[in-house]
Amino acid sequence: MDILEKAPAKINLCLDTPFRHLDGSPEWRMVMTSIDLSDYVHIETSSALTGISIETDTGFLPSDHRNLAYKAAKELQCLFNISEGVHINIKKNIPVAAGLGGGSSDAAAVLRGLNQVWNLKLSLCELAKIGLKIDSDVPFCVYSKTALVEGKGELITPLDELPPFWLVVAKPHESVSTPSILKKISYEKIEHPNVDNVVAGIKKGNLAEICKWMGNALEPITVKEISEINKIKQKMYDFGVQAAQMSGSGPTVFGVCAKYSRAQHVYNSLKGFCNEVYIVHPCSLEKSFEHR
Ligand code: ATP
Repeated sequence: MDILEKAPAKINLCLDTPFRHLDGSPEWRMVMTSIDLSDYVHIETSSALTGISIETDTGFLPSDHRNLAYKAAKELQCLFNISEGVHINIKKNIPVAAGLGGGSSDAAAVLRGLNQVWNLKLSLCELAKIGLKIDSDVPFCVYSKTALVEGKGELITPLDELPPFWLVVAKPHESVSTPSILKKISYEKIEHPNVDNVVAGIKKGNLAEICKWMGNALEPITVKEISEINKIKQKMYDFGVQAAQMSGSGPTVFGVCAKYSRAQHVYNSLKGFCNEVYIVHPCSLEKSFEHR
C-alpha cells in the first residue's frame, strides 16, 4: 500500500511563552497557520519490507532515527505492534532549520498517512497526542489549519478562516537551532505580545487588527545572532508590507500584504538579497480531510 501526503510549512502569526515548565520545556501561547509551501511525503508499506527507511532529495538530512518522519513511523509501529516495514520518500521544499516547522510537518504527514494505510482509525486529536512525543509543533501540523496553540504544543483550538492575504517569506542565509534559542529565553525580561488581540482580529476577519497585534517573543533573542533578520524586515517595510515578523525561533521572516501586486513588489526587492524567497498564502489541510 502507498499514500502521498502533503506536508505544509507553518508560520507563527503570534508567539508568546508565559513560563518554563519544571522539565525545562516552554509553555506556549501561539497563533499558527499553515502556508502553501509544502514538502511531499510518499509512504509505502509492505510485509516484504523490514524496518523503516527514509529517503530525501536534500543530501544532508538524516535518514535514520534522527529524522522526525522516522520517529513518527516508529511511534505507530510500536504503539500498534506492527511488523510491516515502511519506506518514506520526502521531497523537501520547506527550508530546513528555518522556523517553518518542516520536520514536524513531515512527521505529522507520516502519522496521517500511516493512520490511513494501516486503518488505525485514530482521530486527529489522538494523532496529535502521539505527535507531541516527537516535537512540540507536530500536534499543530497534524491539523495544519489556523489555530491557537497552547500548553507544550498539545492544546489546539481551531480558529476561524483568515481574511485573504499574501505572504512574502524570506529565509536569511544562516540557520538557527531551536533548542539553542529556547535555552536563551530569560523569562524576567521577555516582551509578551498580545495573543488574545490577534485571536480577536481573526474572529472579526480584520487583517489590519491582526497585523497591529502580531508579535514574536523569540525574535529579539534570534536577532542578536542573525542581524540579517532586521535588514530583511526593514526592506519589507520599505516596500510596503502591512507587518513583518520572524516565524518560530527563526530566522525566516514573513511580510503580510493584502494585495498580490504588493507582494510581488516586495518579492522582487528581496530576490538577490536573500536566496530563498517565496510568495505564498495561508492554506488549510481541512478540505482534504472532509472526504476521508
Ligand atoms: P522547529 O519546529 O524546531 O522550529 P524548524 O522549522 O526550525 O524546527 P526543521 O526544518 O523542522 O526546523 O529542522 C529542525 C531540525 O530537525 C534540523 O536540524 C534537521 O536536521 C532535523 N530534522 C529531522 N527530520 C527532519 C525532516 N524530515 N525535515 C527537516 N528537518 C528534519
